[in-house]
Amino acid sequence: MTASDRFEIIRSLNDPGKTWDIIVVGGGATGLGIALDAASRGYQTLLLEQTDFAKGTSSRSTKLVHGGVRYLAQGNIGLVREALRERGRLLKNAPHLVRNLSFIIPNYHWWEGMYYSIGLAFYDLLAGKWSFGRTKHISKQATLERLPGVEPKRLYGGVIYHDGQFDDSRLAINLAQTGMEQGATVLNYFKVTGLEKGGDQKLSGVIAEDVETGKTYHLKAKAFINATGIFVDDLLQMDSPGKKPLVRPSQGVHLVFDRSFMPSHDALMIPKTDDGRVLFAVPWHDKLVVGTTDTPLDEHSIEPVALEQEIEFILNNAARYLAKAPQRKDVLSVFAGLRPLAAPQDESSKTKEISRGHKIIVSESGLITVTGGKWTTYRKMAEDTVDKAMETAGLNPALCRTQNLPIHGSRNNMDWEDHLYVYGSDREKLLALADENKAWAEKLHPKYEYRRAEVIWAVRYEMARTVEDVLARRVRLLFLDANAAIEAARLTARLMATELGKDELWQNEQINTFTALAGKYLLY
Ligand SMILES: Cc1cc2nc3c(=O)[nH]c(=O)nc-3n(C[C@H](O)[C@H](O)[C@H](O)COP(=O)(O)OP(=O)(O)OC[C@H]3O[C@@H](n4cnc5c(N)ncnc54)[C@H](O)[C@@H]3O)c2cc1C
Repeated sequence: MTASDRFEIIRSLNDPGKTWDIIVVGGGATGLGIALDAASRGYQTLLLEQTDFAKGTSSRSTKLVHGGVRYLAQGNIGLVREALRERGRLLKNAPHLVRNLSFIIPNYHWWEGMYYSIGLAFYDLLAGKWSFGRTKHISKQATLERLPGVEPKRLYGGVIYHDGQFDDSRLAINLAQTGMEQGATVLNYFKVTGLEKGGDQKLSGVIAEDVETGKTYHLKAKAFINATGIFVDDLLQMDSPGKKPLVRPSQGVHLVFDRSFMPSHDALMIPKTDDGRVLFAVPWHDKLVVGTTDTPLDEHSIEPVALEQEIEFILNNAARYLAKAPQRKDVLSVFAGLRPLAAPQDESSKTKEISRGHKIIVSESGLITVTGGKWTTYRKMAEDTVDKAMETAGLNPALCRTQNLPIHGSRNNMDWEDHLYVYGSDREKLLALADENKAWAEKLHPKYEYRRAEVIWAVRYEMARTVEDVLARRVRLLFLDANAAIEAARLTARLMATELGKDELWQNEQINTFTALAGKYLLY
């Protein structure tokens, strides 16, 4: 969608006679999946996202497409089986963004080799035809070769298993594009500020503000879906003030390091750190992502900040398993995300014990709220939610079509060494931009392969509106190297300004806002 398409779409929202079948609030994994599912069934669908697509939790994950080995240990077989099936479907439908990765669990007790080999063999078995590869036990020597730097003292050996890895916000953008190709209207920077009800107290519309212009719109629909992640209670409060909270945020932090800290093609998985948490060290876009934590919080925010104790926890544990002990100065980026976990009934429950499955709740007004789940299962969550909307709003029945629907950019046999692989089938079109302007073939930052054409592409075809949209969620520089992202901000703003017809004042505001934000991704 180009900037002028956006203008036209927004203008069409003024049509007072228009009633959408479904309005989806929230443009993270959940909302985008729902918009795609609904549009592909033929429903007139509108999705509104208050900031940028995936700015919330959906750009801050561990980047795994997985069944959840941890949930298996908790005996949650149904949840794991469903996630493994969805993992397989995602690999099939978005092979340009999802890849099969081997994970190694180092064993420090004599019984662990057998314990994890059996458990993970069952994990493979549950995956059935969607299996990513067989689990196997490896010797101490092989473990040390594949994970150079892993603590050798008391090491018995290792267990290798397979799971998926992806680029979360790139998948979100591709879902938005697929949704549009299926007929959905999706808008970022549109915030729902109120709900409208008819005489029967059923929802009839939403009030939404165009965040860029401040203009307000009254939009009607037959079904309304609250897919706002950790913000679901804000919308539920608009619907029914005084309602008990449904979700409780739990923060997860990741630190990003240079690959030299774990020069391995495999990922490292520690099922139980000293305090019982899972720790991953995952190679991602030529860097190493290490995390995560699980810290219950009382407040939510669109830009959560890592707590000191979370940073210490990751640094201390990383020191035990990586080739060299990382220091604060080695952290290229730190990012925090909030899990939209279902709030416990019993106040004493810990976040780890709260269900990771998704929940769909229909309020008396007809508002459908979907919460919980994970990125991996977004498609199934969407299917269940649209089924519920069909039933609640009496929409013409239509079957779900997303099981085998290729996601925008879908292409097999990607060259993972070429950083442009994330564009999949768009790669050549992106490169062709350099025919229009030779300078766009040049680098965006001297240390990285990103091209200036990627900024132009993000504005023209991926709905990027701000420097942050480009550097955080279209190219992932903010998450990979926050200092480099700050250094690239000026050029990014200049390139965007030409495309969007913005002046110098806009550029300076963008640079200042982005620099202040990116500072929070740095530790020193
Ligand atoms: C640390 C961490 C690691 C994780 N790792 C993994 C992983 O490796 N694999 C995996 O499968 N899952 C993982 N998850 C889970 C996964 O990331 C989430 O389940 C998923 O991203 C949630 O998506 P969502 O769309 O529900 O929420 P969000 O992505 O938060 O989206 C909600 C959106 O609603 C918007 N919104 C809110 N209010 C309004 C309003 N009034 N009007 C318009 N828009 C509004 C927000 O701006 C936001 O963009 C992880 C989660 C965390 C926190």
